[in-house]
Amino acid sequence: MATAANTSEADLRVIEKYSPVTGEKLGEYHISTPEEVEEAVARARKAFPAWRDLSLEARMKYMRKVAEVVSEDADYLCARISEDTGKPLFGALLTELMTIPLFIEHYEKTAPKVLARKKVKNPLLLSTKKSYIEYFPMGVIGIISPWNFPFQLAMLPAISALMTGNTVVLKPSEVTPISGEIVAEVFDRAGLPEGVFNLVQGDGSTGAALVECDIDKVFFTGSVATGRKVMAAAAKKPIPVELELGGKDAFIVCHDADLKRAAKAAAWAGLANCGQMCTSVERILVVESVHDEFVKHLQEVVSEVRVGAPDEDVEMGPMTFPKQLDTVEAHIKQAKEAGAEVVLGGHRIDRDGQFFSPTIVTNVKDDMDIYVEETFGPVLPVIKVKDEEQAIRMANDHQYGLTGSVWTKDIKRGLKLASRMESGQCSVNDAVQSVGNPALPFGGVKASGIGRYHGDEGLLSFMHQKAIMVDYGMMGPEPFWFPYKGKYPELMGAFKSLMKGNIPKSMYKLLTMPKKSK
Ligand code: NAD
Repeated sequence: MATAANTSEADLRVIEKYSPVTGEKLGEYHISTPEEVEEAVARARKAFPAWRDLSLEARMKYMRKVAEVVSEDADYLCARISEDTGKPLFGALLTELMTIPLFIEHYEKTAPKVLARKKVKNPLLLSTKKSYIEYFPMGVIGIISPWNFPFQLAMLPAISALMTGNTVVLKPSEVTPISGEIVAEVFDRAGLPEGVFNLVQGDGSTGAALVECDIDKVFFTGSVATGRKVMAAAAKKPIPVELELGGKDAFIVCHDADLKRAAKAAAWAGLANCGQMCTSVERILVVESVHDEFVKHLQEVVSEVRVGAPDEDVEMGPMTFPKQLDTVEAHIKQAKEAGAEVVLGGHRIDRDGQFFSPTIVTNVKDDMDIYVEETFGPVLPVIKVKDEEQAIRMANDHQYGLTGSVWTKDIKRGLKLASRMESGQCSVNDAVQSVGNPALPFGGVKASGIGRYHGDEGLLSFMHQKAIMVDYGMMGPEPFWFPYKGKYPELMGAFKSLMKGNIPKSMYKLLTMPKKSK
C-alpha cells in the first residue's frame, strides 16, 4: 500500500504526499536544503529589528487580518486540511480553525496589560528605589510542528511569537506538507512584511538543521523521543526550548458520575480526530461499582460512530499517518494476548485508505503496552479500579501528565481529585475542552513536556524578562558601599536587625543624609 508520506530515498529532496483517504499520490513537496533553512533564518533575522520596533497595536493589526483571512477562507482551509489529514470537514473547522480568531481576539484584550512594564515592590533595604519588570522579544523563533493538528499547532505558537515582536521560521511535519503550505498562505494573505514569517518544508533532518541555525528559541510539538533530541541540540548553544509532547490522559469515572454524559464524553474525547490527539482519553479508570453500566453506555455511543471520508456524513475519518496504524494494531494485539477483551472494533476497515474501526478494550492492566505507551488511535482502553483512591494513584503513576478529567456529581470531590492529578490540565465533568479557553495556560508535566503556551504565559514564553531598578539620586552613598573603616560593628548590628525586618536606629546614622538640593 502506498504510504501517506515518504521522503524519496535517492536524494531526500522531496516529500511524496499520499491521500489518507484513497491512498493516491497527491503531489511532491520540495525538502528545504540546510542552506535554504539557513537562508530562511537569515531572512527572519533581517526582518526582526523593524518588526520588533513596531508598536504592539501595529502588530496586532496584522494579527486581526490573520483572523479575518482564517474566517473568510474557512471552507478552503478546511478542505485543504482534510485533504492532508483525512479528518472530517467539521473536525477541521472545530479543532484547527476555530481557535485562531478566538485566541487573537483574547490577546487583543489582554496583551497590552500582560506585556506592559510592571512595577514591583522593594524590600525594606531598597525602599528608596523603584523596581520594574520589562519584557522584550527573543528574536527568531524556530517552530517545529506535528501532523495531528498541523494547522492549529503551527498557527497558534506562530501568532503568539509574532504578536510579541519575534520573527518566525516554521518547519511543519513531513506527513502534512499541505497544511504547512496553507499556514504560509494565511500569513502571506495577511500582508506580513517580508521575512517576518518563513516556511521551510522537510523531515527530521530539516528540523534538526533549523535547531542548529542562528535561532533564539525553539518551540517544539511532537513525540517525547524527538523532544529529547531537540532539547539536546538546543542545549549545545544553549537556547530556550519549549516542549509540547505526548500524553496518555486519565479519565476517572467515580461511583456517583453521570454515566451517560461521561460515556458520551469519553467516546468523543477518545475518538475525535481518530484518537490522534495528545489530549486524547487513553486510560478510562472506572470504579468497579459502576464499571459494567458505564461500559454498556460506552458501547452504545461508540457503536453509532460512523467512519468515512471527509466528504461523507461521518464522525470519524481515516488515520493520518500509516505508521500509527501499526502501533494501534500492535497495542491491541499485545493487550489481547495479555488478557484484555476487545468489546468493539479492533481492526482495520476493508477499504482503500487508512481506516480503523472505533475500538473499546476492557480488562486493561497497567503492564500492557496499551496502558503504558501512547496509542494515538481510535481506541478506548477501560480499566476497572476498586475506588477513586486507586484511580488517582494509577492516574499519577505514569510517565505522562498532559491533561485528565474526573467525572462525579460531587463537585468538591471532583475538584479535590483534579488538584491531586499530576497533569498540566484537569477538568471536572468535561474533557479536552479546557485547551480551547485562550485564558488557560496549556502544557504538560513529566514526559508530557516543558513550558506553557496559551493564556498570559503564551505571550510571556516568547519574551525575555528584564529587571529594572531606578534610584532617583536623592540619597548619598549606600551604607554598605566602601569604605567600612570604623563602621564594622555598627554595620554588622544594623544588617542583622534588617534581616529580621527592622530598621535599627543606627541605620539612620549609617545612611548618609540626602543631598541638599541646590
Ligand atoms: P514527531 O516527534 O515524530 O515529529 C514532530 C516534528 O519534529 C516533525 O515536524 C518532525 O519532522 C520533526 N523532527 C523529527 N526529528 C527531528 C529532529 N531530530 N530535530 C528536529 N525536528 C525533528 O511527532 P509527530 O509524530 O509528528 O507528532 C505526534 C506526537 O506529538 C505525539 O506524541 C503527540 O502526543 C504529540 N503532540 C503533542 C501535543 C502537545 O501540545 N503536547 C500536541 C500534538 C501532538
